[in-house]
Amino acid sequence: MTERLAELHVHLEGTVSHATASELAAAHGLAPPPPYEYSDLSGFMAIYRDVCRCMTTADDFERVIVEHARAMATQHIAYAELSINPSLHPGEGWVDGMVRARRRVVDEFGVEIAWLVELVRGESMEDNERALEIALATEGVVGLGLVGDESIPSSPLLPLVQRARARGLRFMPHAGQVGDASVVREAVEVLRADRIAHGVSAVDDASLLNVLATRDICLCVCPSSNARIGRQPDFRMLAASGVALTVNSDDPAMVGTTLTHELDLAEADHGLRRDDMISAAWRYSFK
Ligand SMILES: [Zn+2]
Repeated sequence: MTERLAELHVHLEGTVSHATASELAAAHGLAPPPPYEYSDLSGFMAIYRDVCRCMTTADDFERVIVEHARAMATQHIAYAELSINPSLHPGEGWVDGMVRARRRVVDEFGVEIAWLVELVRGESMEDNERALEIALATEGVVGLGLVGDESIPSSPLLPLVQRARARGLRFMPHAGQVGDASVVREAVEVLRADRIAHGVSAVDDASLLNVLATRDICLCVCPSSNARIGRQPDFRMLAASGVALTVNSDDPAMVGTTLTHELDLAEADHGLRRDDMISAAWRYSFK
């Protein structure tokens, strides 16, 4: 029997192929985004923002979501939690595209998509409130995410996270991708994260690793995405500490990877057991 996969850490905007982004840009009278070539996080973010500028209408969103659903079906990914960052998409018409496409792909490809809506460190409270409103009002949203400059404390966003939690949403902030272990500790102890996106710098803090393992907080790690920005976390040591891990593509089109490739890499290069990674993705989903 073919294994059914799940993926928990994927950004919708990072799934858009360069060809599709270029076509969307042309349709909106914009220059095409630069090639997906970068070597650090700021280079990556510049490309990411350019791709986001091409995604403005409901039809744009429907197209990119359906394209990703096709890629999911090819890899036997039955379920994915896709993150989306409202601060990079003005207006609200595009939300209809999320809803339409999510319904469509169930029938067309037999795949299920759920949404995480991202707050942003350092954005205005007004923008983050808007993201929360979209999260609370949109079909298929199962949680909030958090992205942005990790040197900016996330504690001002706690009231928004609490409002989401009161309505049944879960929370997976990015922490410890480039920031140190204290950023992961804040995500766990202040924001009460259910899962962490990346979290790899926790490897430097033994007592924090113990907290993650004891509270059963899963780190959703992304080996190729880390490598593209020059980082080589010690996944073997993270796994040996007893912390739950899943592997993920993060931004598959921009990174130039797939979930199945990440699963292969995790086993071949990082000593992580493929079967453990697959079962953890189902166990730690927000469904
Ligand atoms: Zn990410």
